[in-house]
Amino acid sequence: MPIQTPSPLNPAAVNKLNSALHGQLFRSGENGYDVARKVFNAMVDRRPALIVRPADADDIRLAVSFARENDLPVSVKGGGHNVAGSAVLDGGVMLDCSGMRSIRVDADKRTAQAAAGALLAELDRATQVYGLATPLGVVSVTGIAGLTLGGGIGWINGCYGLACDNVLSADIVTSDGGFLTASPDNHADLHWAIRGGGGNFGVVTSFTYSLHPVGQVMAGGLSFPAERTKEVLQFYPEFAASCPDELSMSASLGRDDLGRPVFGVGLCWCGEPDEVNSALRPLRSLGPNTDAVMPMDYCTLQSSHDAGFPPERYHYWKSSFFTGLTDEAVDVLLHFAAEMPSPASGIGMQQLHGAAARVDPSATAFPHRKSQSELLILSQWADPAETESNVAWTRALFNAMEPFASHGVYVNDLGEEGDDRVRAAYGANYDRLAAVKAIYDPANTFQSNQNIRPTA
Ligand SMILES: Cc1cc2nc3c(=O)[nH]c(=O)nc-3n(C[C@H](O)[C@H](O)[C@H](O)COP(=O)(O)OP(=O)(O)OC[C@H]3O[C@@H](n4cnc5c(N)ncnc54)[C@H](O)[C@@H]3O)c2cc1C
Repeated sequence: MPIQTPSPLNPAAVNKLNSALHGQLFRSGENGYDVARKVFNAMVDRRPALIVRPADADDIRLAVSFARENDLPVSVKGGGHNVAGSAVLDGGVMLDCSGMRSIRVDADKRTAQAAAGALLAELDRATQVYGLATPLGVVSVTGIAGLTLGGGIGWINGCYGLACDNVLSADIVTSDGGFLTASPDNHADLHWAIRGGGGNFGVVTSFTYSLHPVGQVMAGGLSFPAERTKEVLQFYPEFAASCPDELSMSASLGRDDLGRPVFGVGLCWCGEPDEVNSALRPLRSLGPNTDAVMPMDYCTLQSSHDAGFPPERYHYWKSSFFTGLTDEAVDVLLHFAAEMPSPASGIGMQQLHGAAARVDPSATAFPHRKSQSELLILSQWADPAETESNVAWTRALFNAMEPFASHGVYVNDLGEEGDDRVRAAYGANYDRLAAVKAIYDPANTFQSNQNIRPTA
């Protein structure tokens, strides 16, 4: 939705807000403004009218009420990792939750309450003290909030579902400045909507997650010689579709220094350690040239992909889901991989299966419930002069793969791609989400996201 140019803010009203806050407020030109408005994707450079870094839920209520009174839209930044950059908006009020990161673990009840600015690494570290974990994503500096609200696909989804499946309750500031708890017994419609419906319904101040016993796992990866890439690509989707819940994988097609397409599979086995070998036998029979699957401390696994996503890079991503790959689709992937403009890019295949796939598509707002992989064309580069070639390559590959993909798209990896794609992200749950939006955010104050229009 286009954001209207706001009228200039009344300095006295801003000063009044500032003096009421426990946290911080930044105006354009002030120290801290540029740091707070920065997000992971260097392509995004937006300038909010005002940035509030809340210290607590009261600050969020004040900022949301201020925005409403001044007819301004609100954006919310958790970890700032969303590639579409929706955490920051031009001309509205931005809430930067990075000052709210406390985490409390109740090991007896196997729950953790985490404030909305926490990063994956912080929640994992806190729960691992007790040998427990909740499913999150695979890069440890991602924010828990955006990841969880959109779904959250990670290394243990086969055994324990998505991050959103493990949200027992959430504390939320709504657009009228109200503060409520959404759970199965309390505002159950909102509890349903925030598990896959993104940041459309209010500002989450904290999540309470269920935890599972996860300690050391068997993890690492296999990579294959370039001569075998085609054969492995033809084999992999069926292997992924039939593997046990305990094995969750994230594969990637890239290119080597000679421009040849190469394929690697990262994996986590969260079952009995001895059993990983029989689960991997079919994949190993294809002759990997590196095979490094070993006992690994869970936090080490959770940060093992971080180095592939350094800060200050330009990103352009396109995503879809697929179940199998025809020979024709494999040929398309091989052709484009060989022409990938940036060696730092990749064509990712993140598996969603097992417990995550068995949830009814209408049980939470996340609708893509079947065993499948997300095909994520993940372009990243360091030099802005290379933007055009990388964006063009990504779009051309996405278009060429469209005939082989399913209609859906993962909301957390969606760019600014228009209403049809937003609807595809929420699937059959869209109308129900629009009705919930009409209750909790009828004026669409929270529109800096993959936006659901409130039902009239
Ligand atoms: C390097 C990288 C790796 C990734 N890996 C995975 C992965 O393994 N699995 C996976 O599922 N996803 C993954 N993602 C996608 C990720 O889930 C999304 O980018 C997600 O939005 C990041 O959350 P964030 O809090 O960092 O985002 P932000 O950019 O801070 O926020 C994104 C949106 O979330 C909403 N939001 C954030 N905080 C709040 C809040 N407190 N209340 C209400 N709404 C809020 C807002 O609508 C905001 O616009 C990855 C992304 C990157 C860049």
